[in-house]
Amino acid sequence: MKCGFCGFEFAENEGNRGCRNCPMASGCKMVKCPRCNYENPPEPAVVKTIKKLLRRR
Ligand SMILES: [Zn+2]
Repeated sequence: MKCGFCGFEFAENEGNRGCRNCPMASGCKMVKCPRCNYENPPEPAVVKTIKKLLRRR
């Protein structure tokens, strides 16, 4: 995924899970950019599917 703030590209599981110690039940799903710590919303499944299809070529 791509950081919406600095444009740094990283795998979703490489990002810092922002709310691991969030007081809200299981936390939110925001993924923090490893470079600038901006909280990105997780990529929707649709986007992932499209990317996979494009990569297959
Ligand atoms: Zn960033």
